[in-house]
Amino acid sequence: MDADEFRQRGKEMVDFIADYLTTIRTRRVFPNVKPGYMRPLIDEEAPKQGEPWDQIFNDIERVIMPGITHWQSPYMHAYFPALNSYPSLLGDMLANSLNQIGFTWASSPACTELETVVMDWLAKMIGLPNDFLHSHADTTGGGVIQTTASEATLVALLAARKEVIRRVQAQFPYLSPAEINGRLVAYCSDQAHSSVEKACLIGLVKLNLVPSDDKLRLRGSSLRQAIAKDKENGLIPFYLCATLGTTGACAFDNLIELGAICERENIWIHVDAAYAGTAFICPEFRHLMNGVEFTHSFAFNPSKWMMVHFDCTAMWVKSSAALHRAFNVDPLYLQHENAGVAIDYMHWQVPLSRRFRALKLWFVIRSFGIEGLQKHIRNGVRMGTLFESLVKADKRFELPADRHLGLVVFRLKGDNELTEQLLKEINSGGQIHCVPASIKGKYIIRFTVTATSTNSDDINRDWKIIQAAASKILRPLDSLTPQERRNKMKNLHDDFRMSLVLSNTPHSPCLINGSFAAILPLNTRHIYAMTHELSQRGLKNSLLPISTRRRTKNYSGQQTICKQMSMDGSMINSDQQKYLVPMTSSSSLPISRQGSLDSRIEEILENNSIGNTKPNEFLTTTISPYGHMDLNIIVPKINKE
Ligand SMILES: *Cc1c(COP(=O)(O)O)cnc(C)c1O
Repeated sequence: MDADEFRQRGKEMVDFIADYLTTIRTRRVFPNVKPGYMRPLIDEEAPKQGEPWDQIFNDIERVIMPGITHWQSPYMHAYFPALNSYPSLLGDMLANSLNQIGFTWASSPACTELETVVMDWLAKMIGLPNDFLHSHADTTGGGVIQTTASEATLVALLAARKEVIRRVQAQFPYLSPAEINGRLVAYCSDQAHSSVEKACLIGLVKLNLVPSDDKLRLRGSSLRQAIAKDKENGLIPFYLCATLGTTGACAFDNLIELGAICERENIWIHVDAAYAGTAFICPEFRHLMNGVEFTHSFAFNPSKWMMVHFDCTAMWVKSSAALHRAFNVDPLYLQHENAGVAIDYMHWQVPLSRRFRALKLWFVIRSFGIEGLQKHIRNGVRMGTLFESLVKADKRFELPADRHLGLVVFRLKGDNELTEQLLKEINSGGQIHCVPASIKGKYIIRFTVTATSTNSDDINRDWKIIQAAASKILRPLDSLTPQERRNKMKNLHDDFRMSLVLSNTPHSPCLINGSFAAILPLNTRHIYAMTHELSQRGLKNSLLPISTRRRTKNYSGQQTICKQMSMDGSMINSDQQKYLVPMTSSSSLPISRQGSLDSRIEEILENNSIGNTKPNEFLTTTISPYGHMDLNIIVPKINKE
């Protein structure tokens, strides 16, 4: 492709993008494909000769679009928003063309200088204290663009770790950094994002998940207790990641209470405001960050709600010296004559190289203006409030936590299973997309207002779809056809992708709370590996108890398997309802098959086997996604006569 063709193709691509974004409502928001859908659509080998552009371009609709979850759609309510905008796209088009790697000031001065200016703008736009500004003479504070909020949490933790190690070593010079590191403990609430745990894993420090209050906020009293206990045990508290706008229900930790304690205890407070940070552009929401003056670092994602497309995490620190001390390496080839005078952002982050992300941020802020951004945020909150009022008006539903900003969490009254079924039903149509969360043992559906273009018609439409799904779920099982029952049971756990629902028989109306089926050789090592894997996924923190049962009845070959799957209580001698999956005798099955049997369910139900492996062992498990798990292995006794 030469420059002339690029001019033409580039314009075509811009047209394609504008068409895509303006007609996005016509697309199914959640794709209807199965794992591995793409491979048959693409040649097995890379092409020897270059292909004409038309051929490549046409494959966007043929190969890519069928597997896209349309995050820019107004019907996307899963996760948090990840919005783009035209000025943002143009900013990155330019940044990608310049493709400079701005690790030091000298490696591309405009990259560093624009970032410092725009980060000061943004800090003032959201009302951060002056200590966080580059232009503030009394501190070494300033802002930096990181790739993700997870990275900002890690960077802050590493800086805090360096500071505490220095402080403790000044007092006890005979202690090595590793010895001190082994005693460090970090804090966050039980609602905090999993990236805090990841940062602690990388930093090799202990993490204390402090219980949140009934409104899902971290409060001073619980933190104080946790710190006292840890200090009694000889640990050194050094870092708190406070969340403003938790991922589950958008709760806000109480920075005023936490700040006073951390100031006394010399604990670095990092604020993770990944989603909610954008809202602080509107003064009426800033009360939610009262106490921010106590904090040492603060990060939010313009890449979520601010229409600066991924990646862009704005992070500020009060002391860039702490970052320098944590990250400073100075090889000769990166030294330049203005070092020390200008900022070298390579000392503020984990990677060396960095993209020119300030451009898209600059374009967005200038093009919308503060008022344009405020209007966008207020519209999102208004749409969230509208959705909340619709949920409130339907007596079948409840709101288990307060709405904050554009996130509403809701559920059907009654057992968790009902809401779980409801979510399955909602997502299966592909017309809207939501994800679940668990709040203090309650299974809830998160409904986030995402798109810039979401209007009240969209919200009313979405609510009608949810209401219709609820009516279907709440219809008595007796009124369903056997096929409908089967589908209901089969589909229940698709969203978790790690679990599989099997019923006693395909015709049974029995629904279960969360079952997991695995094909395993009966080998305790593998069973332990599986329970460990499950526990790592957050179901439970420790290895789970295993009880084995022996079937006493005769096993007479494959024909009876159906009966065994029929959960005849006398046959499996169980006081509880258990759910069976044929197991194979092959010990060569890769452990990765565990829990990913959803796509094989038909096969299992129809043939009582998987592939050509003959089942001769059965595993039953009942796992609740809310914490308790019961794993039973049933070993059928082979009848040798
Ligand atoms: C989205 C989110 C994150 C993760 O953000 P990344 O930028 O993907 O790392 C972290 N914390 C909270 C509170 C979030 O909402």
